[in-house]
Amino acid sequence: MPLKTRLTTLHDKLPEPGTTLAIAPGVNWVCMPLPFLPAFINCWLLESETGFTLVDTGVNNEKSKILWKAVLEKVCRDKPLQSIIVSHYHPDHIGLAGWFASEYGAELLMSQTEWLAARALFLLNDRDLGQIMVDFYHRCGCEEEFLNYLRADGNSYARTIAPVPHSFIRLESRQQLRLTNSMWTMQCSAGHSPAQVTLYNEQEDLLIAADQILPHISPNISVWPDEPFANPLQYYLESLKDFERFGPETIMLPAHGYPTKNIPQRLLQLTHHHDERLEIIYNACNEPRTATEISAAMLGTEIGMQHIFFAVGEALAHLNYLHAKGEIVRFEDDTNIWRYRQTSPK
Ligand SMILES: [Zn+2]
Repeated sequence: MPLKTRLTTLHDKLPEPGTTLAIAPGVNWVCMPLPFLPAFINCWLLESETGFTLVDTGVNNEKSKILWKAVLEKVCRDKPLQSIIVSHYHPDHIGLAGWFASEYGAELLMSQTEWLAARALFLLNDRDLGQIMVDFYHRCGCEEEFLNYLRADGNSYARTIAPVPHSFIRLESRQQLRLTNSMWTMQCSAGHSPAQVTLYNEQEDLLIAADQILPHISPNISVWPDEPFANPLQYYLESLKDFERFGPETIMLPAHGYPTKNIPQRLLQLTHHHDERLEIIYNACNEPRTATEISAAMLGTEIGMQHIFFAVGEALAHLNYLHAKGEIVRFEDDTNIWRYRQTSPK
């Protein structure tokens, strides 16, 4: 199959909002609309003999709650919603975990790093987080207009999620849980977020891939203000090796997009995508460049304010990767903006 061929999906229709679609024994697909792009998130309601486990929740708003109440009234009639597994701390995944915990008494299961990230970010006030963001994106070379947007935006993360429960149950790689009538194995992977949990069911050859592998878009790999010199792209590319054990027949259930097969092909596509970007960025650094200039070279300048974070963060992830390999150098100009250029300009 040519490298860039789009993977074939296993379904051509999303479940209607407020309903479920059975994918495999005990595995129900629920689709929740989002107030930002991607326009929806896939959540997975798993049924065992004793009750239900929900994997990921959608964001915290009235619309989501109404839809979830409709789903649970139809599906969870005779058995309780026992637990919520949150794959990672991003708001579309953890948004309603606190609500499910308080309304339904469900236990929260996450990797420790993701829970800590969610708690730390949720507890920052608008002014402090606004300032942290302004300082960081200034150093990335962002325009004053975007910095003013960040100041005014404050902690939008905290506004999009219900309070993060103050206790949780830790998930770790290789841990096994009986979430349907068979066992599921957890895997924690870095790159898109610090320790994202994916879940594999060997009996059905089914992988709940969250945002770690997406079928039609490349998961965002970003550097964030809390760790400006991090190298998440390296973590991400290394993490893909953990998924090489899956064959072309394994069914992948992603958080965005449709269920698909052919994980080996998707891994090749994702690696190739980042290799191409690294080459473009290395070539663009023939002169000193800021992360903002690099993001414009990658994605153009016609992107909305809400997406500048991702574009600049992703540019920085590629720059930090090249920097760690010694291919480019970083220096600070007299306005504290980071600039990058090739180690040995040709
Ligand atoms: Zn995510």
